[in-house]
Amino acid sequence: MMDKSPLEEKTASLNFIEALIEKDIQNHKNGGRVHTRFPPEPNGYLHIGHAKSICLNFGLAKKYNGKCNLRFDDTNPVKEDVEYVDSIMEDVRWLGFEWNGEPLYASDYFDQLYVWAEKMIVDGKAYVDEQTSEEIAAQKGTPTVPGKESPFRNRTSQENLDLFRRMKAGEFNDGEKILRAKGDMASDNMHMRDPIMYRIIHKEHHRTGDKWCIYPMYDFTHGQSDYLEGITHSICTLEFEVHRPLYNWYLDQLVEPGYRPQQIEFARLNLSYTVMSKRKLLELVQKNYVSGWDDPRMPTIGGIRRRGYTPEAVRDFADRIGVAKRDNVIDVSLMEFCVREDLNKKAARLMVVIDPVKLVIENYPAEKTEWVEVENNPEDPASGNRMMPFSREIFIERDDFMEEAPKKYFRLTPGGEVRLKGAYIIKCTGVKKNASGNIIEITCIYEPESRSGSGTEASQRKIKGTLHWVDAKNALPVEVRLYDRLFNHEDPGGQEDDFKNYLNPDSLKILSNCMAEPSVKTLKIQDRVQFQRQGYFCVDYDSTPEKIIFNRTVTLKDTWAKVAAKE
Ligand code: ATP
Ligand code: MG
Repeated sequence: MMDKSPLEEKTASLNFIEALIEKDIQNHKNGGRVHTRFPPEPNGYLHIGHAKSICLNFGLAKKYNGKCNLRFDDTNPVKEDVEYVDSIMEDVRWLGFEWNGEPLYASDYFDQLYVWAEKMIVDGKAYVDEQTSEEIAAQKGTPTVPGKESPFRNRTSQENLDLFRRMKAGEFNDGEKILRAKGDMASDNMHMRDPIMYRIIHKEHHRTGDKWCIYPMYDFTHGQSDYLEGITHSICTLEFEVHRPLYNWYLDQLVEPGYRPQQIEFARLNLSYTVMSKRKLLELVQKNYVSGWDDPRMPTIGGIRRRGYTPEAVRDFADRIGVAKRDNVIDVSLMEFCVREDLNKKAARLMVVIDPVKLVIENYPAEKTEWVEVENNPEDPASGNRMMPFSREIFIERDDFMEEAPKKYFRLTPGGEVRLKGAYIIKCTGVKKNASGNIIEITCIYEPESRSGSGTEASQRKIKGTLHWVDAKNALPVEVRLYDRLFNHEDPGGQEDDFKNYLNPDSLKILSNCMAEPSVKTLKIQDRVQFQRQGYFCVDYDSTPEKIIFNRTVTLKDTWAKVAAKE
């Protein structure tokens, strides 16, 4: 076997888009330039699928010393809004990317597109059709049956030009007339069968106001916009593959031979346990299944940001999944893994007892409070230590105690011992219960010589269980919102019945009486921390100094993997 050349070696580790770009650079295509764009339609909030596309487009520009434009694909005034424009810019920036120059808008090219439409008419390549949309649909044919030509197809250019100008002047109602390209009604590509170029929409546009009442179709806009901006690689999702011949055809009708942007398709990101369609996400918001677009259970960028995901984790995730040429579904646990990986390095550890039960240390002096030293983050030596108050009464997790425990239970049991993290070894002496038999207090004694870090023999004694705890006198009650996956089916959107039948009833649990160590007072909105033994949390937007609210970002381990293994 022959050895691989250095170039082949390098190419082997590239994804197919990078390989293509490197070949273009090598061949000095477009003068070796790399210029991509991210082209959202401002008709909804961005989601994690868009994040993939953002990381890809901006990432390639960065890698190849090129540029990436942000272009709003705003050709349909009916669905589009400035509210979305603003949130999209915020989301792109949050992900850590900055576009080339000012944000761009397809609507900035309406004048040029109009000139091009007239050129097509003059060249005999476009005509005004007066049929209803039903009639046009009926003539389209099927992929195997050729379509029928419109009776209006052979008007003179002069007549078409006159009608198109009157369309523009507002003489007709919505749907009364449309401009179509003369493609090929027998083409085996349905998109080439006299595609619609312009339609009449009497609606104000968020940027052009009432200047226009005719608006170009996506297909008559996208390739030309790419061309006008000097885009070299126009990356989009697979459903546009069948549009590519039309994308190229329009440019060939309109501009000189030479430079052309190249459309490249990749598989859209699908995530298990998630719906990503804008329509479905909108339904969840409108029917109040979630609290809004930025509900921490939503796969929107606003949602995952509020949930506590970091931009670094999202970029890492986008990187790990790579780019595929075929549709596939990525396991959502991979994204959760990336979030844990990142937060493990960054998040300060705190002690918060989510389901508190009181524990009284009978042999500890009633008036005394001492301060014990605990590490902020064992993964980050620079993060230092902090002091926590400790006294006779503390809170521990209710499920860290069992009266009758199975063998492998290493937490607290009657007569058993545990270490309190950063503090002492305690031994359980009894419990107090209320009338209905629920435990209201656990009593213990502590070993005074066993304080962590004191260097005594007792402090080094091996104890199987270590518990987190909070000093009762100084504890701060906080609210904790335990978020889980919004759906309990792997493919909620792909079932025969309504996707909403697969909503996870346990996707949100609000615990309003959790007990936190006093240092949580210094946290700010959006700060991310680890509650020891519980998971990663962040301070919610609704949090106030009087009532601190935490969102669970992700658990410490993949709890769903266990569920799946059991099933
Ligand atoms: P719609 O078709 O309803 O407008 P869309 O999700 O395609 O929705 P756009 O705003 O047109 O929304 O998308 C902007 C860019 O993001 C496009 O290039 C699109 O291909 C890409 N994109 C959208 N969804 C995904 C996804 N799930 N994975 C990867 N890229 C995506
Ligand atoms: Mg789209």
